[in-house]
Amino acid sequence: MWHPPSGIRKVPVTELESNVNPEDRYSGPNALTVDVEDYFQVSAFAPYVDRNRWSTHEVRVEKNMDRILELFSHAGVTGTFFFLGWIAERFPAMLRRVAEQGHEIASHGYDHVQVCSQDEQAFRQDVERTRRVLEDISGVSVHGYRAASFSIGPETPWAYDVLAETGHTYSSSINPIRHDRYGAREAPRFPHNKDSAGLPELPVATVELSGMRLPCGGGGFFRLLPYAWSKWCIHRINNVDRQPAIFYFHPWEIDDAQPKITGLDARSKFRHYVNLKHTEKKLGRLLQDFSWTTVKDAFKGVI
Ligand SMILES: [Zn+2]
Repeated sequence: MWHPPSGIRKVPVTELESNVNPEDRYSGPNALTVDVEDYFQVSAFAPYVDRNRWSTHEVRVEKNMDRILELFSHAGVTGTFFFLGWIAERFPAMLRRVAEQGHEIASHGYDHVQVCSQDEQAFRQDVERTRRVLEDISGVSVHGYRAASFSIGPETPWAYDVLAETGHTYSSSINPIRHDRYGAREAPRFPHNKDSAGLPELPVATVELSGMRLPCGGGGFFRLLPYAWSKWCIHRINNVDRQPAIFYFHPWEIDDAQPKITGLDARSKFRHYVNLKHTEKKLGRLLQDFSWTTVKDAFKGVI
């Protein structure tokens, strides 16, 4: 059973709903997103896994994507798949299959280099190349972009202008929480336009309780915390904030049998491997308990 942080009263979902005028709630679908990368490509493993040797690792992403597409199909939902260009080039049939099933194809950059470690020119080449690869293979237009490890921030002020100039129409590259690896605590929690580009940034889901901003948009927190936390938060975002929520996960998060990377520091090891065997079941509940669609559809008034 989930308990809120001390000092915060736990409001049951039913009460949360009954306190809100039905006309004031957000009753549309939420946005379901998948960052399509394999287990050896995550940023936390970068010090331990040589990216020049990625192709020597056992590939698991195809089998995991089969299960995800089955899960989505069973629940009758569509979502947005942010593909690495590296993955798309090696598994073009998988990319085409995702597009053929009515999901949105979007960009996660070519090979998971964090934007904050690139200069403007390198970033431009990266996002141009990735968008071209995804469109050429899938035959559909790519509008959305998500930075590796939510790595757009104050140190990359040129990023949104570059995205707009290279044909993207939205970004979902901010996780507005305090976190050691990513996060922009001061960023707005909901869609906002960035700089001269006017490109909308659509942050992943968070909740704000008694001045504390807490994560609930997916990733390691979804695996670590009880499902009830995610359910309560998404209800709150819809009913109190009156906004659609953006949820994200990765194909490797449903794969308890993935090869273990050795030599990891304790924190990275815990975050990556905690509760992998329960994620698929939790996702099944999440897909049943809410209405889901692509980012493009959930935010069509904004993008
Ligand atoms: Zn990623």
